[in-house]
Amino acid sequence: MVPTMGALHVGHVSLIRRAQSIGASVVVSIFVNPLQFGDSSDLATYPSDIDRDLDICRETSVDLVWAPSVEHMYPSGFATRVSVTGVSVPFEGHHRPGHFDGVATVVTKLFSVVRPDTAVFGAKDFQQVAVIKRLTSDLGLPITIDVAPTVRDHDGLALSSRNVRLEPPARTRALAIPRSLRAAEDAWKSGVRSSRELEAIVATELGDLDIEYAAVVDPSTLSERTNDDDSAVVLVAATVGGVRLIDNVVLG
Ligand code: AMP
Repeated sequence: MVPTMGALHVGHVSLIRRAQSIGASVVVSIFVNPLQFGDSSDLATYPSDIDRDLDICRETSVDLVWAPSVEHMYPSGFATRVSVTGVSVPFEGHHRPGHFDGVATVVTKLFSVVRPDTAVFGAKDFQQVAVIKRLTSDLGLPITIDVAPTVRDHDGLALSSRNVRLEPPARTRALAIPRSLRAAEDAWKSGVRSSRELEAIVATELGDLDIEYAAVVDPSTLSERTNDDDSAVVLVAATVGGVRLIDNVVLG
């Protein structure tokens, strides 16, 4: 299974291809989940093009597309929330209160209806993967969570459905995000290990972007690394030209 919110792009297609290499049949869900949007204007402006999405799913030989309505997913009287603590608290959890409860609730429902053997998620949403792995393990769901690498545009910007809303000047400014991650990678390769030093390098590249967070933490706990020799993840969220973008890179 490949859960998506539609407005499919090459990143989603890479997840579909990966799922096809794992399983005999692939289900793609397309559902813009209102529960995970705190800001109603963000939900209202989220891109959507179901006809194009269905064309892409046909062209990539997806076996089944499930695109339920909001009323079908959350009929009147729906009162359940699935809430993961710990890894869901910092970063996205802090800046988008309720977001991960929405994600955990919809993913639990998608899983319980489709009952896939494997679900493929993108590494671009690093914290989301951590939340879903925790959820799946804690609830004993018999589903393997597979993680596909981030697909980037030719200029390094991580593909995202939201990128269609970036005007050209904003898009150019947004390139500071992948540049900052490459700078962190280069620094790591040249031996820099301290979180603070790496964060300073990232901050320099991000310059005057409207940054929500740009942090170097432990990839499994998303909290401070206890040892400079431990691996690290750089997590960045910034708003550029009114579009909220997230990206990350794992070091080590
Ligand atoms: P979305 O439709 O944005 O909710 O994304 C659906 C799935 O596609 C999630 O697992 C995302 O992490 C994944 N995804 C989104 N963008 C990319 C990308 N550029 N590369 C790889 N996976 C992605």
